[in-house]
Amino acid sequence: MTDTGTWQHIRYEEPAERVARIVLARADKANAQDYRLLSELNEAFDRAARDESVSVIILAADGKHFSSGHDLAAGTDMSDVDPIGTWCCFDAEGAEGHMATEAEMYLGLCWRWRNIPKPTIAQVQGKVIAGGLMLVWPMDLVVCSQDATFSDPVVAFGVNGHEYFTHPYEAGARLAKEMLFTGRAITADEALRHGMVNQVVERDELESTTLEMAMRIAKRPTIGLTLAKQSVNNALDAMGMYTAIQSAFGLHHVGHNHNARVHGMLVDPGGVRIIRDEA
Ligand code: ZN
Repeated sequence: MTDTGTWQHIRYEEPAERVARIVLARADKANAQDYRLLSELNEAFDRAARDESVSVIILAADGKHFSSGHDLAAGTDMSDVDPIGTWCCFDAEGAEGHMATEAEMYLGLCWRWRNIPKPTIAQVQGKVIAGGLMLVWPMDLVVCSQDATFSDPVVAFGVNGHEYFTHPYEAGARLAKEMLFTGRAITADEALRHGMVNQVVERDELESTTLEMAMRIAKRPTIGLTLAKQSVNNALDAMGMYTAIQSAFGLHHVGHNHNARVHGMLVDPGGVRIIRDEA
């Protein structure tokens, strides 16, 4: 069954019994994320989470690249769609409005999806850049193709990294620092070696491998899956994951506000040249 509903940037599919697949369907923009895409994605996650006939959720993407990150052309315009969380005052002056906006549309949504009480699997090909990682990392498992690369180059823009700062938990401290300091893209094999992904497969086997994994998981009782997921997440939280994310989010906004004072904009405009010269 496929239900496109009123969604413009995603598709919702049920490719096998007890498996839902949500697909980023903005391939013409390399699945860049505006608030509409994130809002539709959230609705789809809610639908899969609340559907008792679904045990496992796959997050996939159309096109060559999983996601190029946030849609910089769209900015942080939220006027099109209602807020999902409890944040407010998005248009307030100074740091207040921008912090609320990023807490709502970036960090808030990532944390919400990280805690969906059903197993989630990211099915990843091509480039995953900055905000793209914010869709991959909240998922429980990651299957990627050989051509997948993972980068967060935004230190060049004078901030610490993207807003869902779980880099040390995902890549380990050393690789996390290298990713951030150099902006270098991590290859699929590096990601596998460092435990950032579960499996690397050929591009033409990506969908089938991910679906097979989902179907195997879906044979198990949902209560066992939920308890296992929560137990692992609780272990990460016992290591301070949520506190670390919030601390990094505060520092992220020190960066934004430094840039606003020095450059008159939220990011250092020199970052574009650094990244372009290294491309
Ligand atoms: Zn930001």
